Amino acid sequence: MGYETDWTDVEKGSPDCDCPAKCGSADIEVREWESSDGGHTDYHYRCKGCGKDWWAEGADA
Ligand SMILES: [Zn+2]
Repeated sequence: MGYETDWTDVEKGSPDCDCPAKCGSADIEVREWESSDGGHTDYHYRCKGCGKDWWAEGADA
């Protein structure tokens, strides 16, 4: 549970590689977060260009 992975770079050109702040940076990192019961995984993104961070919901197990 908690953060399952360290920050890793999102592949350039992937749909996830799009800063919602539209800062123009393509340097996005992501890490996985798992709920305490292990049944839910979310993805925590952050932009290295402007520092914006956001979440995306993963599939329920
Ligand atoms: Zn940004």
